[in-house]
Amino acid sequence: MKVTIKTYNAVAYWRWDAPSDDVCGICRVQFDGTCPNCRFPGDDCPILNGKCGHSFHLHCVNDWIQTESSRGLCPMCRQKFEFEAE
Ligand SMILES: [Zn+2]
Ligand SMILES: [Zn+2]
Ligand SMILES: [Zn+2]
Repeated sequence: MKVTIKTYNAVAYWRWDAPSDDVCGICRVQFDGTCPNCRFPGDDCPILNGKCGHSFHLHCVNDWIQTESSRGLCPMCRQKFEFEAE
């Protein structure tokens, strides 16, 4: 019997090596801080790296993408916002 093992691909992953002096383009808070809705930095408020090279708090991007005016575009460069996956 042949068993095929599928590798698991994370839907999204984030890195923690974002420069500490860099700020989220949406809320303008540094990446070692949290989005306005969170109180504690770290796993509870992860950072999402977009393929376009811009990074945001996951929560900030979630809110942004849900707004009609975003059209799924990166708020910084207006390219289609896709985060690093696969
Ligand atoms: Zn943010
Ligand atoms: Zn947050
Ligand atoms: Zn961008």
